[in-house]
Amino acid sequence: MPRVCGLLLGWTLSGEQRKTCKRRTHTGKMSQGNGREISSLCQGVQILRPKPQSPLGRKDKMKIDKRDKIFSLLVRQRAEWTCEACHKKYPENSAGLHCSHLVSRRYQSTRHHPLAAAAHCFACHQRLGGNPLEFAEWIRNHLGPEKTEYLLAMKNTLRKRTQPEKEDLYQQLKAEYARMMELRKQGKRGRIEFRAFDEAVLERREKAARRT
Ligand SMILES: [Zn+2]
Repeated sequence: MPRVCGLLLGWTLSGEQRKTCKRRTHTGKMSQGNGREISSLCQGVQILRPKPQSPLGRKDKMKIDKRDKIFSLLVRQRAEWTCEACHKKYPENSAGLHCSHLVSRRYQSTRHHPLAAAAHCFACHQRLGGNPLEFAEWIRNHLGPEKTEYLLAMKNTLRKRTQPEKEDLYQQLKAEYARMMELRKQGKRGRIEFRAFDEAVLERREKAARRT
């Protein structure tokens, strides 16, 4: 069933009688004006181009914040922009390599934990995301049984982070990324690990306690 879009603003004429809304997902009549860009509600009928879906499905769709963005960079830079499943190499900052979450991002305690994500190319992400048994086996091989158990236990220590903690987490992730990039600049190749937030905070608190 074709649906009328009715949501998107702005039309651009692309071709003689063809009008496409700015996202280029709809085509159809313009509600007013002719042959020039106008601003109006899209009256287009949705053409069959499904929106790209997360391989993990609808359930995993949640807002991506600045921590998630830097975490994603950390995970992919850690793997030197190489898919950790098929080992295909990607250029730096390529959108073809994903930060693949081994535990749903719903769990705050593991959401930004180094063990809880890996770099996967689009194809591997799709395949593993669509095959939970294969994914579980991959994780166990990738992390080893001990770390897998640790991750599973940690996932259930769910607690909400306070706003200062969230900011602390962001600063920590940023610092780890800067450290990683510095090592790359010095010519370090291969995998570079980064530290988990809570461990880093713990360490900092212990240091402060020793000083006083
Ligand atoms: Zn791959």
